[in-house]
Amino acid sequence: MIYFDHNATTSIHPEVLEAMMPFLTSQQGNPSSNHSFGRHVHTAIEEAREKVANSVNAHPSQVIFTSSGTESNNTIIHGISRSYPDSHFGFSAIEHPCISEPIKSIEPMGFKNTQIPVDNKCLLNISALNNEEQKNITFLSVMMANNETGVIQDMPTITKWAKSHNIQIHTDAVQAIGKINVDFEELEVDAMTISSHKIYGPQGAAALILNKKIDLHPHLMGGGQEKGLRSGTENIAAIVGFGKACERVQKNIVIINDEIKKCHVYLEKELKNLGAVIFAEQTERLANTTFFAFNNIDGSTLLTALDRKGYAIASGSACSSNSSEASHVLLAMGIESELAQGALRVSLGIETKKDEIKSFLEALKIEVNRLKQLTAMTV
Ligand code: PLP
Repeated sequence: MIYFDHNATTSIHPEVLEAMMPFLTSQQGNPSSNHSFGRHVHTAIEEAREKVANSVNAHPSQVIFTSSGTESNNTIIHGISRSYPDSHFGFSAIEHPCISEPIKSIEPMGFKNTQIPVDNKCLLNISALNNEEQKNITFLSVMMANNETGVIQDMPTITKWAKSHNIQIHTDAVQAIGKINVDFEELEVDAMTISSHKIYGPQGAAALILNKKIDLHPHLMGGGQEKGLRSGTENIAAIVGFGKACERVQKNIVIINDEIKKCHVYLEKELKNLGAVIFAEQTERLANTTFFAFNNIDGSTLLTALDRKGYAIASGSACSSNSSEASHVLLAMGIESELAQGALRVSLGIETKKDEIKSFLEALKIEVNRLKQLTAMTV
């Protein structure tokens, strides 16, 4: 099997696993306990906090550990709604459901929201908002890089706009960290989400980075861990692994290396030769992500055929559900639903080799031709 689904999740890097092992085997202790076992694991968590903070140029005191990007995003939305009862939430039309769904879920409690459109390049279109909408939004969430198209938003401009309108701003940087430079201080956002399993760390650890100006009501209450903002005994091994993965990100600056970039250029050139449409092709994107479709070919049929041949790729947003609905990101970009229905995503990782892309393209060509013939027979 060849894995081309690194935006969904990555394998644990051997260095990360090595750092985690003592905490999975011999080293017991609850970080809240006042004995030497407890103190030992407490120190391990604080060291991990420092590594996570350093990787995004934040202060360790700004890092709140959670279990997933999903939990971080739910925490910020629900926390803001509890702390600021007059909040009006703005969010881009291409946000991951773990932002849009919690925002929609609090509508019945009287919280208004405004979905901000993107243009056909998948870029946020603030100018589409009328003055009334601009005036009303108090909290804005915009993802730094999109998980499906890989499109990178112009966060400095968006943040500047938000600040000039007195709007608190959060960015979901889950797909950005490790692939492009993510600098919490320079971005001047109020809150940011990152997740371990997208950067060769384990599943089960993530962070919400919070500017001290934000007064957040806790989402999970109990023992008061994470400064009272996220109660629950810490997942020590996962947090230690997350710290190590962040340390690697910081050392390498990015995990998209030259080899991945070359593979990406080659893949897209050959896909176009096969007749594929590459979504947001002209927009600045993550150099590991390609979202594409063939006219008149169903994405899930092609995905299954390629899976049988040993290639793991994704259709639409693989990390959210098995939904067969057309991608909300492509629909927001104005792509026709028939073409959007055929969308497939290839996301490359540090272990990807050019030979693997070559053999994938050969298999793809055979399957596309076979499905085209089938379609022609049934028309
Ligand atoms: N945000 C984005 C942009 C994502 O791509 C994902 C998952 O793929 C998430 C949030 C959710 O992160 P997690 O899988 O850690 O819950």
